[in-house]
Amino acid sequence: MISFEEALRLVQLDIEPTGTENVVLAECQGRVLAADVFSDADMPPFNKAAVDGYACRRQDLSDGVILNIEEIISAGSVPAKVIEAGCCAKIMTGAMIPEGADCVVMVEQTSGIGEKQVKVVQSHTKDNIARKAEELRDGELVLSKGTLILPQQMAVLAAVGASSVQVYKKVHVCVMSTGDELVEPEYKPGPGKIRNSNAVQLMAQVQRMGALAVYGGIIADNEFDTRSKILSGLQDSQVLILSGGISMGDFDFVPRILDELGMKILFKTIAVQPGKPTVFARNKNSFVFALPGNPVSSFNIFELLAKPFLYQLMGHEYNSPVLRLPLGGSYSRKAKHRLGFAPAIISSGGEVFPVHYHGSAHIHALTRANALMEVPLGTESIKEGELVHVRLI
Ligand code: AMP
Ligand code: MG
Repeated sequence: MISFEEALRLVQLDIEPTGTENVVLAECQGRVLAADVFSDADMPPFNKAAVDGYACRRQDLSDGVILNIEEIISAGSVPAKVIEAGCCAKIMTGAMIPEGADCVVMVEQTSGIGEKQVKVVQSHTKDNIARKAEELRDGELVLSKGTLILPQQMAVLAAVGASSVQVYKKVHVCVMSTGDELVEPEYKPGPGKIRNSNAVQLMAQVQRMGALAVYGGIIADNEFDTRSKILSGLQDSQVLILSGGISMGDFDFVPRILDELGMKILFKTIAVQPGKPTVFARNKNSFVFALPGNPVSSFNIFELLAKPFLYQLMGHEYNSPVLRLPLGGSYSRKAKHRLGFAPAIISSGGEVFPVHYHGSAHIHALTRANALMEVPLGTESIKEGELVHVRLI
């Protein structure tokens, strides 16, 4: 059995993205930049008004002063006049500051006197000017290779004219479930059978992180089916994610078949709870993640290990955001020799409450959780108020 940290290291070792492609910006959400992006202009490109108001000279300002309005400058237009003593231009947020002006008095600090003049009621003002290039200079690095593109990165890409973006290719992942007891969700399970809940969960986890998921069906608990389905899954996809069939049962064939197929097994068990039986195998650039059969365990291990691994294959170094928050009640567990992950709720008050949970088959507990609470190796109980690490799910 290896530690979680060692497993994380092994799944990210010597992993290279498979290739790059150009994608139109509108479709880039969730993709990973394959090249640095530089600005093609200063940002802002000109001194611009940060408020609606009157562009004028600070030296002309005093409480009650009346300024002559020379022109109205709307956003997107170019000022025609230079601001002289005693004058101003009515200006809209985002419009270009006219020459001669060094501040913008907000509309709220003035009172209009017809169309030609304005009275400055409150003359104490900030400049209210967003300066040319204060955000970015032409040619400056905006986003680095490896960045995950979220909506906020898309805005920046648009602003620098990156209308098509060089990104890493999506990883092709085939998801399969093992188990003679499984029937697909549309069927009513007969005696001894249960519905296959792992496949859709894993497919959704793969899709949520921006990789491509195809469903490869249920593998029967026999050597022949295990071998042939693993082989066919690996023909079309770079990564195969299986669930079940890796424990100590008489029909848990997966590790042996992987070995027979010439795959190198990097680990079979990890000191994580839930999720101890977890197999990671590779053959050059083909990978198999065989996750535990119980749905909470497979969810957990996907989040903890498969996700950083798949991101690495897509060129992104993923670090799950981990919060440190106080425990809302006391917590205890029986075993303490594995790093625990308990489904938990972070309350609106910022406290962590593990949800009522009785084992790794308890999928309902997960539906009530919004986080996984870490229980360190060697820790049996945690007192109310102690700080714990939680990952959002
Ligand atoms: P296994 O790892 O194959 O021994 O499975 C462990 C437990 O998880 C057993 O109770 C299985 O019935 C259950 N299980 C395995 N695969 C699935 C699945 N795809 N959906 C729901 N439960 C499963
Ligand atoms: Mg099984």
